[in-house]
Amino acid sequence: MQLGFEHSYFALPASFYARVSPATVANPRLIVFNRQLAAELGLDAEAIEQSAAVMLSGNQLPDDATPIAMAYAGHQFGGFVPRLGDGRAILLGELRDREGVLRDVQLKGVGPTPFSRNGDGLAALGPMLREYLISEAMYALGIPTTRSLAVVATGEEVFRDRPLPGAVLTRVAASHVRVGTFQYFAAQGNEQAIRELLDYVIARHYPQVRDDTVPALALLKAVAERQAALIADWMRVGFIHGVMNTDNMAISGETIDYGPCAFMDEYDPGTVFSSIDRGGRYAYVNQPAIAQWNLSRFAETLLPLIDTDSERAVSVATQVLQSFLVQVNTNFLAAMGQKIGLVALADGDMELIGRLLTAMHAAHADFTLTFRALADAAADPNDQQALRGLFGEGVDLPDWLRDWRARLASDPQTAADRAANMRRVNPAFIPRNHRVEAALNAASDHGDMAPFNKLLAILQRPYESQPENAEYALPPQPAERVLATFCGT
Ligand code: AMP
Ligand code: MG
Repeated sequence: MQLGFEHSYFALPASFYARVSPATVANPRLIVFNRQLAAELGLDAEAIEQSAAVMLSGNQLPDDATPIAMAYAGHQFGGFVPRLGDGRAILLGELRDREGVLRDVQLKGVGPTPFSRNGDGLAALGPMLREYLISEAMYALGIPTTRSLAVVATGEEVFRDRPLPGAVLTRVAASHVRVGTFQYFAAQGNEQAIRELLDYVIARHYPQVRDDTVPALALLKAVAERQAALIADWMRVGFIHGVMNTDNMAISGETIDYGPCAFMDEYDPGTVFSSIDRGGRYAYVNQPAIAQWNLSRFAETLLPLIDTDSERAVSVATQVLQSFLVQVNTNFLAAMGQKIGLVALADGDMELIGRLLTAMHAAHADFTLTFRALADAAADPNDQQALRGLFGEGVDLPDWLRDWRARLASDPQTAADRAANMRRVNPAFIPRNHRVEAALNAASDHGDMAPFNKLLAILQRPYESQPENAEYALPPQPAERVLATFCGT
């Protein structure tokens, strides 16, 4: 079968990737398939679904695929690894979607590649379903992200701390070029390759900077701008990526690599879930600073192309990096303003938002439910029951509510419009860890996909009230709490 692949990455020099052929698997079985995404990619969804098990397990690739493993480096938890690369993924090629945009199609978990190091190149069903679920939830929340087209169970076991069912995820991305891709060539002193990569990402993702006098600097600014939007988006829904290594930061500005990521329940800026993040490097509140750190590593790879005078290059790049933090903060405050029902920010709003967050932290209030309850309170001043319940006694919410109401008096929206707008930015449903774990365990341990499918359907409409699914909006009971998430392997 031909899918209509284009091969722009394959057309780059051979040093950018390794040619590979996937391992074949025993008994592939299609577990989930994203018809809507298939259609978006201009594919015949029914025909693809029919052959998905053999085709998207890697057993019989589409005839026009050119399977490659991409080369990249990366700082992992701050330590530089000069050669990472796709150790368990292969890029089949790119499809032009209905909007005319090129999208990478990658199979993850198809066996060893020249970049596998000591890994087996495989993936377990649970983590691949986790990536599918959370990436599709992020998409429905309106946050830039890679997408998931399918998960195919391989019918083979993979060995982790115990034998687990194996699976292959089909990931769709604006591209898989990462900060670490630039670092790979920079570490080799290969300026020619950096130039080619620069031209490639400008053509593919940032054509507006092509004719800039200093394209490398313009690219840095443009990438920083998208990351500033992305990080603020993560934070407005309580998302913690968990492994913001430079190889997990996409140049396109999409969220990529859903390993130990999680959404927080009760608000605590220090929240960390990832079991491998012992120092809390990638905690919720650290995400802007870590993104800036990653962008600094990106900037370093571009310095020679920014200015031949290295001092001048450093000076202009530093300005971009400094304004990045300001940008994230501005975006975050704008989002928080909307979350509390303001069309535009005015003097004093930053303090008002800060006081709410402080009260939420002190009261261990649920992040998602607080803003949803605030929408109810905005619709009807007498409807403060839910809010009271979230904050309990002893936290100074009445004062805050009084000041909030006073501020709303100078906001131009009607109460009904405000509440409706608040519900459009404050999700009722996020992928709560206890629900995600339960759905993955049912699938992985018992072959029962019903909880997964139900959860996925709910998360595809996160801003709708869905009274019939009210219990999915609730935080975990103490016994249900998931305190750690594990790297997706
Ligand atoms: P990640 O933590 O998923 O971002 O992966 C970091 C690096 O480890 C990448 O180079 C991956 O390709 C590689 N990797 C992760 N899991 C495996 C595996 N099971 N086999 C081989 N390589 C892997
Ligand atoms: Mg990765």
